[in-house]
Amino acid sequence: MRCEIIAVGTELLMGQTTNTNARDIARELSSLGVGVYYQAVVGDNEERLADVFRQALSRADLIILTGGLGPTEDDITRETVARVLELPLEKNKAWEEKLEKFFARFKRPMVAMNLRQTMVPQGGRLFHNDRGTAPGIYLEREGKLIILLPGPPREMLPMFKEQVIPLLREKLRDQGNLGVLQSKVLRVFGLGESAMAEMIQPLLENQDNPTLAPLAKGAEVHLRITAHSSTPEEAEELIERKAEEVRAILGDYIYGEDEEDLEYAVAKLLWEKGKTLALAESCSGGLLSHRLTNIPDSSKYFLAGLVTYSNEAKINILGVNPELIASLGAVSNEVAREMASGVRRVCHADIGLGITGIAGPGGETPGKPVGLTYIALESDRFQFSNRYEFWGDRQDVKQRATQTALNLLRLYLLGKLKAK
Ligand code: ATP
Repeated sequence: MRCEIIAVGTELLMGQTTNTNARDIARELSSLGVGVYYQAVVGDNEERLADVFRQALSRADLIILTGGLGPTEDDITRETVARVLELPLEKNKAWEEKLEKFFARFKRPMVAMNLRQTMVPQGGRLFHNDRGTAPGIYLEREGKLIILLPGPPREMLPMFKEQVIPLLREKLRDQGNLGVLQSKVLRVFGLGESAMAEMIQPLLENQDNPTLAPLAKGAEVHLRITAHSSTPEEAEELIERKAEEVRAILGDYIYGEDEEDLEYAVAKLLWEKGKTLALAESCSGGLLSHRLTNIPDSSKYFLAGLVTYSNEAKINILGVNPELIASLGAVSNEVAREMASGVRRVCHADIGLGITGIAGPGGETPGKPVGLTYIALESDRFQFSNRYEFWGDRQDVKQRATQTALNLLRLYLLGKLKAK
């Protein structure tokens, strides 16, 4: 079943409201194995809505419209759909009674305008709406299913889950098409989107079921594997087989799956290996500590995060050699190393990590551009430090620096980080 979603509302086009309805509907449809082929957004304009709706009718089996079912003149979805389908609008008595009761209960007058919401294209069935005044409408026309839903998400989503999904499930069963569409995301760090795509090129070619879709997400890349099948177990098996092929190629570039972020991966490894950690942060301003302590039970391995922002703090708290700062600058490999070893010593941690850099936009000096960052890691008989140049604004640099530091911790804990 090919589905197309049309969200109606000028506020969506203008960016004042995010089109969460299309996202939520698409997500729900996945669980039924219904593929969404197109999503459109159109303003409160009859001609343009009629065009988009006609086009959807020409290529989809299921067309879902949201928004524009209100009582006012600019709510045009009901009328436009009826006009394109050449169906008269008829008053629905049951809904009229319901509205009368609704207005009486809240002691508000029911004006003539409200009656627009009782009009239904001939042959249309209603979806009840306990949270608002507009019913949903369901029509069947030449084998195509057309569904009109109210715009407010708090009305639309429960209606969709409670009434539309069971109806679609029934239709799909009748057609022998009931299935599931399931996805898994493999999270990759340390490769750009194109570099990753090149490595898995043979898998990206000739893909059918499951499909593979790379997506750049900030400093990392996500690879979505989606399988269509008749049962969840079968879909899971198809996904797992494909994930194994991907893992064989990308190896440790993959750090997690689905909702597991990098801090979670590090936390899990610290926990498993029984190691403790202390951080000395400068340019990242405590962001790395924040990210690691977002994980519940972080007190089991996280001893301290010191934001040693000034030279004095680096010297007085961590014991960084002032001569190093004077000769090489606070943003240098040597200072990062002393920060890592200082915080490890002061906090009696198994692992110490230091970050020093220039987050920008100011602070650039010859040979030291904005984004320049040194990260050092020290543990018993192990030292690592490296120079990085991160791009972007202040937030990007902080984000990328902490992401890189987390990945270094992960590789170290896996025994995959070479001393340097
Ligand atoms: P109402 O009866 O409230 O007028 P309606 O069906 O006519 O409902 P709209 O007037 O189009 O719906 O939208 C009402 C509100 O619902 C909007 O102000 C917006 O906040 C929200 N909304 C509409 N469409 C969407 C959408 N696609 N995604 C998220 N929110 C939406």
